[in-house]
Amino acid sequence: MIQTSEKFREHVAHALTDADLKIALTRTTGLLQSRRRQVIDEYPEYAQARIRAQAIKDHTLKHLGHYLEMFEANATANGAKVHWAATPGEARRIVSDICVKAGAKTATRVKSMLGEEIGIAEALADAGVERIETDLAEHIIQLAGEAPSHIVMPAMHKTREQVASLFDEKHGVAPDSHDVTDLVASARRELRKKFLSADVGISGANFLIADTGAIVTVTNEGNSELTCTPPKTHIVTVGIEKIVPGMDHATVLLRLLARAAIGAEITQYTTFYNGPKREDDADGPTDYHIVLVDNHRSEMLGTDLQPMLRCIRCGACMNHCPVYAAVGGHAYGAVYPGPMGSVLTPAMSSLEAAKDLPNACTLNGRCKEVCPVNIPLPDMLRTFRARQWEAGLTPPLAQWALKGWGFVARRPRIYRLASGLSVYGLRLWAFGKGRIRKMPLASSWLKYRDLPRPEKGSFMQQYNASEHAKRSRK
Ligand code: SF4
Repeated sequence: MIQTSEKFREHVAHALTDADLKIALTRTTGLLQSRRRQVIDEYPEYAQARIRAQAIKDHTLKHLGHYLEMFEANATANGAKVHWAATPGEARRIVSDICVKAGAKTATRVKSMLGEEIGIAEALADAGVERIETDLAEHIIQLAGEAPSHIVMPAMHKTREQVASLFDEKHGVAPDSHDVTDLVASARRELRKKFLSADVGISGANFLIADTGAIVTVTNEGNSELTCTPPKTHIVTVGIEKIVPGMDHATVLLRLLARAAIGAEITQYTTFYNGPKREDDADGPTDYHIVLVDNHRSEMLGTDLQPMLRCIRCGACMNHCPVYAAVGGHAYGAVYPGPMGSVLTPAMSSLEAAKDLPNACTLNGRCKEVCPVNIPLPDMLRTFRARQWEAGLTPPLAQWALKGWGFVARRPRIYRLASGLSVYGLRLWAFGKGRIRKMPLASSWLKYRDLPRPEKGSFMQQYNASEHAKRSRK
């Protein structure tokens, strides 16, 4: 995916006028939020598990080199060929070389955001290999020629009606009806034959288990098993932060992942891959590669961005983000959207290229609250804002406004006077209308929303009046 986060404002303006996008986002985020709430309420150990998960990730990150070497030794002993890629370019070259060597013509792929991050589509195109996306949502966006808009539900931006007309147009045999069951059956019909004839299967991994050398994938459709087992060659591309010391640690994270991601106790398929086909195995790949990708991750170690490496890619932060719910994932113009993407994109590219993303946040804190590994996303976004300020990247108008705010906020008397006058002014401005729809210096803000006429008096004035009333009643 080509990063276009520098056009964030342009994308937002477009997204806010897209009625279908609004319908799709409202339907799905609402459902995911209520399902998550329900399964968390039914999981009494949730708070404990969350603390344990954070501790597991923090411990592993502290000893990352040790666990990665342990994984490499065990995976190699299992028969895997382990490759190290410092950059997306190196990862693409490794994947491309393996495909050429295998004489591959087709490759099935099971969804992985790391694959998007390194540009696996380009690697396969360079090697002359046809790419077949096997996840239902990835299949939809491949047919539509689009990029994922969510890390767990890549086609979240599409309504069922849009998917139905896409399948009518692109599938060899049109779906029997536009019911969800028939749409899924149609995708299955298209994909099933391709699974069995693919030369290479490419997957990501949700976790790497250091003490056994196994990789773990989690899906709901069984497409991981169909992608990784029939082809002769299996390539795993995975970020180095996905490592955990052992099986017990993986199970703690697995229990949180499904709950946070889709509001289920566990996903339909959780598979542990331990190497290539052995002599007495009925099937499996004979050639098995694991590509461990860094791409700026090791630069985050030991910095205030290290907690971001705890991320287990559940997507809960975006499902609960009001900005994401208003503009969708494509507006971010990056592989990772939403709150976690607003941290990862500048960390993996540059602050200049992603300068609007840390500011696309109301700092309401919901993302941190729902994060199963307790990543302080709002604090990190503030860190980036501070870095922007120090680097002189904050726009002049915002600099002027922040300096003015800083001056007033440090002087309580002036602050009270200014807030009282602002409320008075806003009430006057909205007089007779009840709402403010136009105002100098706030045209961008008011373009897509209006402001109700404020209550009489500032917060402090109302608070003082209520305290005064309480005292006089005594
Ligand atoms: S930051 Fe937390 S909530 Fe967001 S995807 Fe990562 S683990 Fe999930």
